[in-house]
Amino acid sequence: MVDLNGQYQSIKEQINLSISNILETSAFINGPEVHSFQKELEDYLDVKHVIPCANGTDALQIAMMGLGLRPGDEVITADFTFAATVEVIALLQLTPVLVDVEEDTFNIDISAVEKAITPKTKAIVPVHLFGQCANMDAIMALAEKHDLYVIEDNAQAIGADYTDSEGKKQKAGTIGHVGSTSFFPSKNLGCYGDGGAIFTNDDALAHAIRGIVNHGMYERYHHDVVGVNSRLDSIQAAVLRAKLPLLDGYCDARRKAAIKYTKAFESQDNIVVPVTVNTCGMASDICKCHVFHQYTLRITNGKRDALVEHLNDNQIPCGVYYPIPLHKQKAYADERYNEVDFPKTNKLVKEVISLPMHTELDDEQITHITNAIIAFVNG
Ligand SMILES: *Cc1c(COP(=O)(O)O)cnc(C)c1O
Repeated sequence: MVDLNGQYQSIKEQINLSISNILETSAFINGPEVHSFQKELEDYLDVKHVIPCANGTDALQIAMMGLGLRPGDEVITADFTFAATVEVIALLQLTPVLVDVEEDTFNIDISAVEKAITPKTKAIVPVHLFGQCANMDAIMALAEKHDLYVIEDNAQAIGADYTDSEGKKQKAGTIGHVGSTSFFPSKNLGCYGDGGAIFTNDDALAHAIRGIVNHGMYERYHHDVVGVNSRLDSIQAAVLRAKLPLLDGYCDARRKAAIKYTKAFESQDNIVVPVTVNTCGMASDICKCHVFHQYTLRITNGKRDALVEHLNDNQIPCGVYYPIPLHKQKAYADERYNEVDFPKTNKLVKEVISLPMHTELDDEQITHITNAIIAFVNG
């Protein structure tokens, strides 16, 4: 699905040099690399505060802790996402409220969010799934109207742009009150281990979060709140510093591959290509509204599972993200949920298939993949 080694080979010298510098200086934790990466990511995202942490799941949890969400507070999020999003809500004893998504963009459905708001609702967590932003204009308007926090789960869309209805362009993850991301190796900006970060423009929230990631300490050995231990280590920061200047190029490479996939599939029956919501108005080859963490097709003639098997048999990697709606997972099922409220997620889990997507895909590989899929689905 991803070619991490191919990418490493192209940046090997710089990465190896910075890692060996860290080994020589022994500044493994809270070293200068971490601080520099934080500043560089703040510049890239044009956000006031980046707080690095240990992984994307921690980032979400710490964002919720920083906002002071309390047991019993309701938090609305998408039914169709990676479990981390709902996991941290449940772990903090907040009440997860899962809602349906849009069939074409896979992102949280605004009318479903609106329907789910109650007097106990405290926050909405849009997940920018597969690399493009949820409808942030509508989410921010709803949040303002109902006095809710917006926590963007930006694990899959770092580098994406979102242009609001007034033409203001912002980076994904910096639009809501707080955003989170993951630097898991296969993410668009991946390190060589675990890593994550939290973003916010709110000074007080940033201060609160900086203490929470460090055992609730704001002054050495004074623990004012219950915190956690969540750090990005220096070696991961060095890898990320080497890759951050290349992120836009990585996103371009993904977009180019996506455009080629779409060209091959778009006239095919039974295969629905992913939709880009172009908020910037720029041409599709330069538009950064979608950074294609995943390239996800829908197979509408019931052959998805057979296609997965066929591709596996032919050594073509593919993935099903996600095969089970969160509201049907044992850990998160609840009698509050009603099947009629999830028609789109229930359908998508049977139709979606994600294709190899990374920065090193070449034309020959793409043609091999698209030919195999078309021949099987419509042959
Ligand atoms: C990867 C991911 C996370 C979790 O990130 P980790 O670094 O693996 O903890 C959270 N949310 C979404 C949508 C993700 O894709």
